Amino acid sequence: MGLYEEAKALQDEMTAIRRQLHEWPELGFELPKTKALVWEKLTEMGYEPQECGRAGITASLGKPGKTILLRADMDALPMKEETGLPFSSKNDWMHSCGHDTHVAMLLGAAKLLKAHESELAGCVKFMFQPAEEILAGSADMLNSGILENPKVDAAFGMHIMSELPCDKIVYADRYVNASADKFIIRIKGRGGHGAMPENAVDPLLCACYINVALQEILGREISGKDLAVITVCHMESGEKENIIPETAFMEGTTRAYSGKVREYMKKRMEEICVGIAAAYRCECTVEWPFGVSPNENDPALQEEIIGGIREFLGEEKVLQNPASMGSEDFANVSQAVPSVFVSLGARVEDDSKVFGQHSNHVLFDERVFATGAAVYADTAMRWLKKHA
Ligand SMILES: [Zn+2]
Ligand SMILES: [Zn+2]
Repeated sequence: MGLYEEAKALQDEMTAIRRQLHEWPELGFELPKTKALVWEKLTEMGYEPQECGRAGITASLGKPGKTILLRADMDALPMKEETGLPFSSKNDWMHSCGHDTHVAMLLGAAKLLKAHESELAGCVKFMFQPAEEILAGSADMLNSGILENPKVDAAFGMHIMSELPCDKIVYADRYVNASADKFIIRIKGRGGHGAMPENAVDPLLCACYINVALQEILGREISGKDLAVITVCHMESGEKENIIPETAFMEGTTRAYSGKVREYMKKRMEEICVGIAAAYRCECTVEWPFGVSPNENDPALQEEIIGGIREFLGEEKVLQNPASMGSEDFANVSQAVPSVFVSLGARVEDDSKVFGQHSNHVLFDERVFATGAAVYADTAMRWLKKHA
C-alpha cells in the first residue's frame, strides 16, 4: 500500500480529531485542551512529545542526520461561528482559519511516518505552534530553540484554503506572503500662538512633509520589480484654529515581499523622519511595535519539493497561484532556514457555500485531509532520502 492509500485509511481518525478541536476552539497561547489532545495522540503513537516555548509542542522521529521540520498551527479566532455544522463551536470562538485541520493532518502525518520510521534517512521534527493569528507563536518557539537539537536543515508548512480548488496543492512562486510592519512616528515641536509662528516650532507642518517624503522611498529608491507599500493611515495633531500644537502623531503600515526591501524601507524611513524633523527644528522618533517577515520559499528547495509533490500526487493536482498580501508567521521559520509553504485547496462543491478564511460561515472539504497528511509525510521522507 502506498503512502497515499495509507493516509486515506486515516481519514476517519483525522476527521474525528478535527471535529473535536473544532467544537472547542482556543486562542493565542491559551490552548490547554488542544495541547492535551495533541500530546495524547502523539504519546499513543509512540512519540515523546516535549513542550516548546509558552504553548508549543514538538516531537521527532527517525535517526540522527539531516532534519526536516513539519509545522502546523493550532489557534482559532475570537469570533462566533455561524456555519450550522453539527460539530460547530461550543464557545464564542471559531476555527475559521482551519488550524484545526492543520493539527489533524499533521497528526495523521505523524502516524504515517511512525509506521515508516525504519525507512527514514534522517530526522523529522514536528512543530505544533500556538498564536499564529496574533503573529507571535512561531517567534516564541524559535526563541525557545525549536530549530536546534537536532538542528533543522529545512522546513515545510501547509495552509488549508477554503476558496482554492478542492484537493489541489497550490504554491506561489518564491514569495508566499508579504511582510507586515506597524510604525508609529512621534514628532515634537514647540507649541505657541497661531498668529506668531516665529515663536513656535510647528510639528504639524513637519508631519505633512514626512508623509510626502516617505512615498519617495517607493518612487525613487525601490526597484519597480519589487512590490512594496508604505501607507500612513492615521495622523493627528492640534485642536484649535489659533494654537500651534506641541506634538504630532502618525501611524501606518509597510508591506514587502523581500526581507531585504523590508529592512531597507525601515532604515530609510527612520533616516528620512529624523532628517526632515531636524530640518524643521523638530525632534522625531520612529517605533516598530509589531511586525512579521515575508513568508518566503527557498527557490531551490521549492523546485525540489514541488517537483516531489508533482511526482507523488500527479501533475494535475499541483497548481501555481499568485502570492498573497496577507501575512503568515511561518515567515519567521522561512527567514531562519530554507523553507517551503504551500496551500491545500479545500473548496466545497456548492459555490453558494464558499466563504473566505476568517468568515464565520467558512467551510472546508474534509476529504482533503488524506492529501494533506500524505504530502506532509511524503515530502519529509523524500527530502531526507535525497539529502541524507
Ligand atoms: Zn488566519
Ligand atoms: Zn491561518
